[in-house]
Amino acid sequence: MTYQEHLQVIAQIGREYRHYKSIESLFELDQWTMLPPQGGTYRQETAALIGEKKNQCYLTQQAAQEEAYFSQVPLDQVEDEVERGLIRTFLSRRRVAARTPADLQRQYSLLKAQCMEKWKEARQAKDYQIFMPYLKQAFDLKGQIARAIDPESPAFDTLVGLTDEGVKVGEVSRQFDVLKEGLKTLLDKLSRGHAPQAVDYPQGDPEAMSAFAQSLAREVGFSTEVGTFNDQVIHGFTSFMGPRDARVSTYRSGSHELIFTCLHEAGHAMYSTGSSQRVIDAGLWGGIEGGFHEANSRFYENLVGRSRAYWNYCYPKLAKAIPQFGDMDLETFYLGLHRVQPSLKRIASDEVTYSLHAILRFELERDYFAGILHAEDMAQAWNEKYRDYLGLCPPDDTQGILQDMHWAGDYIGYFQSYALGNIYDGQILQALERDLPRWQENLQQGDFRPLNRWMGENIWSHGCCLTAGELLERITGSALDAQPFLNYLDRKYSAIYGLVPQSNRV
Ligand SMILES: [Zn+2]
Repeated sequence: MTYQEHLQVIAQIGREYRHYKSIESLFELDQWTMLPPQGGTYRQETAALIGEKKNQCYLTQQAAQEEAYFSQVPLDQVEDEVERGLIRTFLSRRRVAARTPADLQRQYSLLKAQCMEKWKEARQAKDYQIFMPYLKQAFDLKGQIARAIDPESPAFDTLVGLTDEGVKVGEVSRQFDVLKEGLKTLLDKLSRGHAPQAVDYPQGDPEAMSAFAQSLAREVGFSTEVGTFNDQVIHGFTSFMGPRDARVSTYRSGSHELIFTCLHEAGHAMYSTGSSQRVIDAGLWGGIEGGFHEANSRFYENLVGRSRAYWNYCYPKLAKAIPQFGDMDLETFYLGLHRVQPSLKRIASDEVTYSLHAILRFELERDYFAGILHAEDMAQAWNEKYRDYLGLCPPDDTQGILQDMHWAGDYIGYFQSYALGNIYDGQILQALERDLPRWQENLQQGDFRPLNRWMGENIWSHGCCLTAGELLERITGSALDAQPFLNYLDRKYSAIYGLVPQSNRV
């Protein structure tokens, strides 16, 4: 068989795998929307069967032969990015499928259901100790699985790599330290400025707000040819169903916050449906998972959606569509969006403090897997970090360590992606400003085409051919770097708080 024929074989395996993954996405969406309570048990059996089929794509004799063949191919000498993406993705999925011990995986699946129940119970009782033994078992089992997948790497590196491919814990830790210190300095600086007043935002009619927020998502570039909105779900998420099929789930609410949810999900949808045809044919569509996908959604939510240029353009439309905003002026609305206030809750936090919430969870996981921190001491370590980074102490565990479902729900080695998304955004912004210096003027005119064209060419079209690190290197010429994101925040918030931005100082 020639090299090209081998490539055809792994492309076919990858396409089959993606089909199963699409079925899984459809099931997951259905679970949040149409599945009746008593349908759950049978559905779990169906989902388990599909999951098994998906895994088996990489467990055949043929897959083993291809692994032997491609392990000999020096990846850095493969020049074509689609070919490189095919080989890299094939080898990593094959390793995970072939090396994950079936008995440990079974144990973990059983434990997962218990974990969720105990987490809920602990939340009710506001007592981490109820959840603690289950968290310990879940972390330890995950650690064992990770060591089986890659005996040469530390377990936490492998777990982080399963969410953010190619990312190394040491490198992330170093950049998170830069980000953390920079954010603490910025918070300190802002405390000496003029903080915007807290604004009592009016509530609109939920139906009208939902329709308006969706119209903004379409306006920034979400295409109804390749995506649909369902606003009857309790939280916002996007399901990547196919290369030209993204399902956005949102909720109805009279709050203007819904606009940011819709812009966020539009960012995910545009990224996931923007792959080039060649990338789609290779089964590598949908974008890079983890922090890089989050960078795209947060770009549209924050760097577009919370910018002054955008609201200069958009505010008259809001005031017209939702009459309750007619009595409020643009300045009040905009400043209120940028009131920085450390809080205990990650999902309610502002643009400046958000990353700190993600970093401290990442640090707890990292220290646990390094053997420095024990499950018994996690709640206390959590509270100490909140005091240190945000100046707040949770009054109970439910508002502290029990607030996210991630650790109970198989998202271990995941939190870094939220803060990485912000770091990537700073770097993407730097490259965008270099190539499109007038992009803010375009926003102010309601013209999103130049931005989307740039995103399409530089990011979306590549699907998941490259890792986040490779793609960043290509568009910015540099490795992971927290400084551009800090510069962005400093520039924006210094202006709002009436302070001098760092870059203007001699
Ligand atoms: Zn997201």
